[in-house]
Amino acid sequence: MNQRIKYLQAQIQAEENRMSRCTHEWNEVFYNPETVKEGYGFKPVGRGSDMWHEYEGYHDVQKPRWTRICKKCGKEDHTDKQRPVVTHHVPDFK
Ligand SMILES: [Zn+2]
Repeated sequence: MNQRIKYLQAQIQAEENRMSRCTHEWNEVFYNPETVKEGYGFKPVGRGSDMWHEYEGYHDVQKPRWTRICKKCGKEDHTDKQRPVVTHHVPDFK
């Protein structure tokens, strides 16, 4: 390990400490889909009794994801989950 690597590791450690102590103030959440590889099709592989199937290939698919970034420390936080939010109520005559 050289001095440069030691220096960078110390920087990373300091930055991680700063992020872990931060009380996080999040910027507005934005939609930030993630590109992932997804397998498609099936092709037989092997021979005789030692046969199995593999994907014919892979293609890129967009997976829903949302991101928020802390204004103070720059931490990026991702989620692919959503929950319902009730925005208003209406009179209910029953
Ligand atoms: Zn923060």
